[in-house]
Amino acid sequence: MYTSELTKYPSRADIGQTSRVLVVEDEELIREMLVLALEEEGYAVVTATDGRSAVEYLKNCEPSSGELPFDLVVLDLMLPQINGLDICRLLRHQGNPVPILMLSAKGSETDRVLGLEVGADDYLTKPFSMRELVARCRALLRRQRLSTLPQIPILQYKEVTLYPQECRVLVRSQEVNLSPKEFRLLELFMSYARRVWSREQLLDQVWGPDFVGDSKTVDVHIRWLREKLEQDPSHPEYIVTVRGFGYRFG
Ligand code: CA
Repeated sequence: MYTSELTKYPSRADIGQTSRVLVVEDEELIREMLVLALEEEGYAVVTATDGRSAVEYLKNCEPSSGELPFDLVVLDLMLPQINGLDICRLLRHQGNPVPILMLSAKGSETDRVLGLEVGADDYLTKPFSMRELVARCRALLRRQRLSTLPQIPILQYKEVTLYPQECRVLVRSQEVNLSPKEFRLLELFMSYARRVWSREQLLDQVWGPDFVGDSKTVDVHIRWLREKLEQDPSHPEYIVTVRGFGYRFG
């Protein structure tokens, strides 16, 4: 039996805008339950009842077509005309990276392994609960979002390495604790190595244009930063004073 035991999770927020899901299933009852469950979750669902129309749908939304691509395909294994395994193979052969959740009535290990081998991302054996299905779909969509987030490059100069996404800094292979302002200051310096910054520019970039205070604040933070980075803070090799102008990195 297919039970619809949908529970509302607050996780739609991290998925962002409406995801488009293609459901390929020839059994009407299951197809309808899938559509209900996925629409309930907030996805835009398109259905195909056989292999050939599924391939058509997928072809029609290739990047060149101007149609929005699907974010996920829920694909039954046993289908009229072209089966799920062949569709999967075809998509991967064409270099289409859309996440695929494969469904199968057969519970055998071989089917599961074969499904994953031809490029499915996940596999569910019938009967399954709609709650399980929705959880798997959500996980695949989230994984896809994460993999498309732009990676911010790691910054490195001599023996200082800054990991922007992790907010970590290593100095001579040792982790150092920086305050948020020190971190922003160093990140800015390292992003524009050798560029000379005036105190006002640094205040503007790191403290923001609304900051009311003295440009001495910058000098104080530079001193703290030097104590954490430099082997000899009185002869700095990383944060260098440029007389009459300000500071530069490297
Ligand atoms: Ca089927």
